Amino acid sequence: MKVLKFGGTSVGSVESILSVKKIVEAQTEPVIVVVSALGGITDKLIRTSQLAVEGDAAYQQSFREIAERHEDMINAIIPDGERRETLLVTVRALLEELRSIYHGVFLIRDLSPKTQAAIVSYGERMSSRIVSCLIQGSAWFDSREFIKTHRQNGKNVLATELTNELVRETFMGGLKGASVVGGFISTDKDTGEVTNLGRGGSDYTASIIAAALDADVLEIWTDVDGFMTADPKVIHTAYTIPELTYIEAMELCNFGAKVVYPPTIYPVCVKNIPILIKNTFNPEAPGTIIKSEVKDDVRSIKGISSIKGTSLITVSGLSMVGVIGVNRRIFSCLADNGISVFMVSQASSENSTSIGVRDVEVEEACRVLNEEFEKEIEDGKMFRMQAESGLATVAIVGENMKHTPGIAGKLFGTLGRSGISVIACAQGASETNISFVINQKFLRKALNSIHDSFFLSEYQEVNLFVCGVGTVGGSLLEQIYQQQEKLMRELRVKLNVVGIATGHNATFRREGLELRSFINEQTGKAEFRKRMKEAPASDIHRLRDEVIQMNIFNSVFVDCTASSEVAGLYRDFLDHNINVVAANKIAASSDYTNYRELKQIAQKRGVKFLFETNVGAGLPIIRTINDLVNSGDKILKIEAVLSGTLNFIFNTISKDIPFSETVRMAKDEGYSEPDPRIDLSGKDVIRKLVILTREAGYEIEQKDVEANLFIPQSFFDGSLEDFWANLPSLDAEWERRREELERNHRVWRFVAKYENGRGSVSLQEFDQDHSFYVLEGSNNIVLLTTERYNEYPMLIQGYGAGASVTAAGVFADIMSLA
Ligand code: ADP
Ligand code: ASP
Ligand code: MG
Repeated sequence: MKVLKFGGTSVGSVESILSVKKIVEAQTEPVIVVVSALGGITDKLIRTSQLAVEGDAAYQQSFREIAERHEDMINAIIPDGERRETLLVTVRALLEELRSIYHGVFLIRDLSPKTQAAIVSYGERMSSRIVSCLIQGSAWFDSREFIKTHRQNGKNVLATELTNELVRETFMGGLKGASVVGGFISTDKDTGEVTNLGRGGSDYTASIIAAALDADVLEIWTDVDGFMTADPKVIHTAYTIPELTYIEAMELCNFGAKVVYPPTIYPVCVKNIPILIKNTFNPEAPGTIIKSEVKDDVRSIKGISSIKGTSLITVSGLSMVGVIGVNRRIFSCLADNGISVFMVSQASSENSTSIGVRDVEVEEACRVLNEEFEKEIEDGKMFRMQAESGLATVAIVGENMKHTPGIAGKLFGTLGRSGISVIACAQGASETNISFVINQKFLRKALNSIHDSFFLSEYQEVNLFVCGVGTVGGSLLEQIYQQQEKLMRELRVKLNVVGIATGHNATFRREGLELRSFINEQTGKAEFRKRMKEAPASDIHRLRDEVIQMNIFNSVFVDCTASSEVAGLYRDFLDHNINVVAANKIAASSDYTNYRELKQIAQKRGVKFLFETNVGAGLPIIRTINDLVNSGDKILKIEAVLSGTLNFIFNTISKDIPFSETVRMAKDEGYSEPDPRIDLSGKDVIRKLVILTREAGYEIEQKDVEANLFIPQSFFDGSLEDFWANLPSLDAEWERRREELERNHRVWRFVAKYENGRGSVSLQEFDQDHSFYVLEGSNNIVLLTTERYNEYPMLIQGYGAGASVTAAGVFADIMSLA
């Protein structure tokens, strides 16, 4: 025979309860069906009693809602007729009793634990009657008759032997068809008063019955496909674990995997009865089987679970060192007061012990411990208890952790990179569980990063905030959209764009924005800029706050703007363990101290600050310099043509295209900075040279670079309009110089150079013998003379500007973080 338990969600709606009927009626052997209260009813019963005891007449409305919920359910699932009438009479009688109890509580303003227990019992008492009536031919049994508890340390605990005997007696006559039982509720073996097995206790009722009757299997039917690698409500990439050992299941349940109530495992484990977790809403799914031995699994950990609302009490003092018996006193004292401890961590110096308890029990725990050690505290041998609340405790679990080195290292490394500090940790010698305590506000991030790092997730996620949707940002988003599926399929990397921002608007979504929604339905073209105008208003402060508050794991802030305000945010982001990928050159070329500090923060936090596209768009220049330097080479000289814009201008200027026209063309083609004067003044090249020089290991500021201008300073002083208006006045002089150049078979290149501590930029002429002579369109070229590449310097050449190659370079930086 089998025991089937259906949780609150399985009997919560008309659709689900009809599914329960189908599942039970399809059974081919006798079954005992244990049911919870209708989903949400236990909470509502408790809330209503709170209203009543506070003297709030709203309890009556709340009670009416409870009554209606049950009557509506009955009317929806039981056909009109005698059976329905009989059921309504039974349920109404129960509701009437419940109403009287609430009324009593309201009048006396007293809600004793006994009364509370009586009140919550009505949930299962009614639901079991309803399910029994729904399942044709089933018999109803009152679990209060055979599930017995007794008082121990101020708590109701199962009277195991008596219960086993009574269960056997009750069902001794031989089972036929389905027998329906309400879960959770029980009675005190001495007083006969109604008690219960604790929240979530229906699972336990089912396990007790299964063990007492030597069932073949205990099936727990719930609202998820099985036991999952983590709570699917927190981690959307969690997936079902096909098999678990009893020990693994117990470890996970103890730390908050709510899918099974922790005491449930023990009774069936002792009898070696397997537990099968199934989904009422998807009965075809295979579910999870929990048994003593499972097939080998390559994964080092099986699952992660966590509990919020936990506190750490630190018992410390000098007298504790080497004293035998302090721990005994701590734990006896807590046990005598019914306080359960779920984690202990003691430093080997023995002068402090940290104890994990629930927030609701911490005050009482401190009180009784202070009392226990009153004398030692008075004598100054020990300190008063210190408590820290609002914490979360996380456990990673798996029997394969045994004898696998490096798990703890990987775990704490992952947390460190996410900027999460571990307040206490514990690993038992059984090596099936490592538990640690962190600040509750980091819980989601911690769970996600651990899930990802132990490859429990199907995909490794990279969460992106993209700032700026101009030519580069827009292209980047388009490229991400086009690559997303392939990266998931081939590399198992999931690029999630969790935020997009412009100067005025921003939109965020933790699960990832649907990039498809930025595509114009008619034309099929991406319209990030246009669609972003419909997004909620934002500014630099909101952007900063939102990105930090989302506190999302493995996240990257991608700056595709040219804004100094945005560059000013990097420090905060890096400080919060958010990687920064910048197409924006401002930060890397700012004051040397700022540049160095940003790099240091990134290093300290274990995140990256990448800006490959600051120089030569997508060309691998910075990466190459880093590789050379890191492998012990020394960069002696940098010579480079780094301005795609200037190169375009000097390659385009001709008899027919005057200088001013080439500048306008560079702007229109999207080569130049939005304000082309940044290119013409050499400022852009200076920034690039500064960045390369710094990456080569030298300290330099922009002002240290000697700038040789090729158009008069006055052109840079006025407004942008004046600049455009005045530019043609230079054309004649440029044409004269160009003719001369042509006559000499030479070309112009705007060259950046660093050698022997000196940086300079200047317009130079080259003849065809020089490697800078052939340089088409907007291409860039970098010549690196190093100790190793000395006689023949290293040459990097190719497209150095343009939205799509720059976006591709940003994309490559992002992918290097996956
Ligand atoms: P029931 O009403 O069936 O007893 P519960 O709400 O008590 O259902 O337990 C099922 C819920 O447990 C799931 O909806 C899920 O959110 C939560 N849960 C937490 N951890 C896990 C996990 N590791 N695997 C599956 N579910 C989990
Ligand atoms: N109805 C009870 C609760 O909500 C017991 C259970 O669902 O297992 O806690
Ligand atoms: Mg449950």
